Amino acid sequence: MPSNDIGALEETDTSLRAPLAEIFTSIQGEALFAGLQQIFVRLRGCDLNCPWCDTPAAREMEGDCSCQTRPGARAWTIPNPLSVADVEDAIKRIIAANEPTAIHSISITGGEPLLYPEFVAALAATLQPLHLPIMLETNGQRPRELHQVLRYIDWVAADYKLDSAMGRPLDGDAREEFLRMAQRKRAFVKIVITDAATEEELEEVFALIASVDAACPVFLQPVTPNGGARPPRGIDLMRFRALATRSLRDVRIMPQIHRLLKLP
Ligand code: SF4
Repeated sequence: MPSNDIGALEETDTSLRAPLAEIFTSIQGEALFAGLQQIFVRLRGCDLNCPWCDTPAAREMEGDCSCQTRPGARAWTIPNPLSVADVEDAIKRIIAANEPTAIHSISITGGEPLLYPEFVAALAATLQPLHLPIMLETNGQRPRELHQVLRYIDWVAADYKLDSAMGRPLDGDAREEFLRMAQRKRAFVKIVITDAATEEELEEVFALIASVDAACPVFLQPVTPNGGARPPRGIDLMRFRALATRSLRDVRIMPQIHRLLKLP
């Protein structure tokens, strides 16, 4: 359901620009919307450095934005940085080339989209007349920037990284503030799990989520092997899930399904 803060649309500046990596449609392969077709708007730039990063092109600041109406179709490019109007035009072209009822929602993702909160807010506001729910996929560490965009966003997907995988602690206070704010709309959490994950760090993350909302859907995603990162054993994932269910009511184990389907 799109945001209904229509009055603020008059403030939208469609000339705002940001660097993008790609605009395309595919099946969402992760978490709550897995199996549904989305249009993905992938911004460039990231403030993290995940060892398993499966979208390294999104971390590079160089290059045009690649656009594709559907998997297998001929791509076209738009020079960076793109304006909000450029992105809107590309999305409308993708919708026109697909069965309109097949497209469930729009994912604004990255990289880290909240590196560009003004652009994301203007884009999400501009897309409201399409009547497609808008989901923000973010690492969940930037509450101030979330505040800037939240009125135009329907769903927040917070993608948590574990300290064991990152090799350094991430800011737990920022994560908690972010999740509390995200609850004003609808939110869920995805945690990428490698074979380095420990019960102690997971317990800490589960407790943080439960302190905000014990009913928040939480997805334990075994890492798709990449860059030396390896997934845990299935039996360990079951153990982690059992641990989570002590404080959380909706915890699911789910690998990336778009990889199995060989879709982008
Ligand atoms: S947050 Fe995403 S884009 Fe950034 S390094 Fe991690 S996997 Fe890659």
